[in-house]
Amino acid sequence: MYDCIIIGAGPAGMMAATAAADAGKSVLIIEKNKMAGRKLRITGKGRCNVTNAADVDTLMRSINENGRFLYSALNRFDSSDTVTFFENMGVALKTERGGRVFPQSDKAADIAEAMYRRALDGGCTFVNGEAADVLTENGSACGVRLKSGKEILSSSVIIATGGLSYPLTGSTGDGYRMAKSLGHSITPTRGALVPIETRESWPEQLQGLSLKNVKLTLKCEGKTLFCDQGEMLFTHFGISGPLCLSASCHVKDPEKDYKIEIDLKPALDEPTLDSRLLKDFTKYINKDYINALDDLLPSKLIPVFVSLSGIDPRRKVNEITKQERRSIALLLKNMQLSVKALRPVDEAIITAGGINVKEINPSTMESKIVPGLFFAGEVIDVSAYTGGYNLQIAFSTGYLAGTCC
Ligand SMILES: Cc1cc2nc3c(=O)[nH]c(=O)nc-3n(C[C@H](O)[C@H](O)[C@H](O)COP(=O)(O)OP(=O)(O)OC[C@H]3O[C@@H](n4cnc5c(N)ncnc54)[C@H](O)[C@@H]3O)c2cc1C
Repeated sequence: MYDCIIIGAGPAGMMAATAAADAGKSVLIIEKNKMAGRKLRITGKGRCNVTNAADVDTLMRSINENGRFLYSALNRFDSSDTVTFFENMGVALKTERGGRVFPQSDKAADIAEAMYRRALDGGCTFVNGEAADVLTENGSACGVRLKSGKEILSSSVIIATGGLSYPLTGSTGDGYRMAKSLGHSITPTRGALVPIETRESWPEQLQGLSLKNVKLTLKCEGKTLFCDQGEMLFTHFGISGPLCLSASCHVKDPEKDYKIEIDLKPALDEPTLDSRLLKDFTKYINKDYINALDDLLPSKLIPVFVSLSGIDPRRKVNEITKQERRSIALLLKNMQLSVKALRPVDEAIITAGGINVKEINPSTMESKIVPGLFFAGEVIDVSAYTGGYNLQIAFSTGYLAGTCC
């Protein structure tokens, strides 16, 4: 008999375990992988963007699904608490561009190991097993049944099983099924922060090319859904990289026609860009058009750009008309793509949708339907952009659930 059983030893579950143990509770964590924090170990391309050094208001603005629900959790345990938590364990951190916080070692495994050790040192017990159901008595949570049939009793249960993305890490949606069988509703799930397949095939020719400091706008039926500046990547199926992953969060209806506009020169307005082109074309006056763009664009992009401009690559620069030059400037400011589909949820960084937040008390993370049942992390219907925000959500909700269970 434990005070609290936590299902899932990801960042949310391990933070909940530590918080519960620090509050004097006996804690058991059930994890179906042999190793704790398997997904955590591959985050941030193996470097783990552990949080974002932003205040709560900025954190809230970076959450695109149910940010208001997280207000209490983020206020109880914010990004400075995350930094203190890891630094107290001797994990040195550093802050990079955009407030992104990483371990100084650049090793995500250091974060996962520190969380595991901290939970163990706090007195938590880890067990390797797969939870099948949450047990209830008189409508309240009272333990967990393992897949093996074994039943373990407790005063409270925290479901921290994550979402559906990267299922090989253990996140296979078990928490949704458990919560549903106890009367919870699940907001339909879909991959978010996921690469985008485009109808156009030209991105394939640019496979591997990463563009920094470009502006990406996502539109649907003339309405701007997302617009930001940063980095993007071309792939064999379309586009990826931080900007595209963030934009993907707004592609919610596969029936709709979504358009993407890429501004390759966001720092220059059209007249300034036209003057810049004029300067370059004067410099390369006797060259072919295709050989006159080296100062403006990465070499891999030039043939594709020239083809999209519709101007003969072998035209001499001195033959290009003023109107054609304007159309080149326009294309630099607005290269267009259309969304064919999102890549499958397996390839998504996070899962949007999940346990309906209306059925969870935001001040405690306790279920409003089943007393003694709590939720933490990605299993809840909350999601944020890239930048360390999703791990902060796992830590904040985990801390609150662990403190209140
Ligand atoms: C490639 C990649 C890179 C990422 N990089 C970043 C980043 O740099 N910064 C950031 O903020 N976010 C990042 N994320 C998102 C972040 O990893 C997740 O939001 C976060 O891990 C969610 O934490 P969680 O504890 O809720 O779930 P998870 O980390 O998914 O952990 C859930 C755990 O529960 C276990 N489990 C599931 N079902 C059962 C069951 N029935 N019984 C027992 N155990 C079970 C699983 O095995 C798993 O260990 C990244 C995600 C991916 C896929």
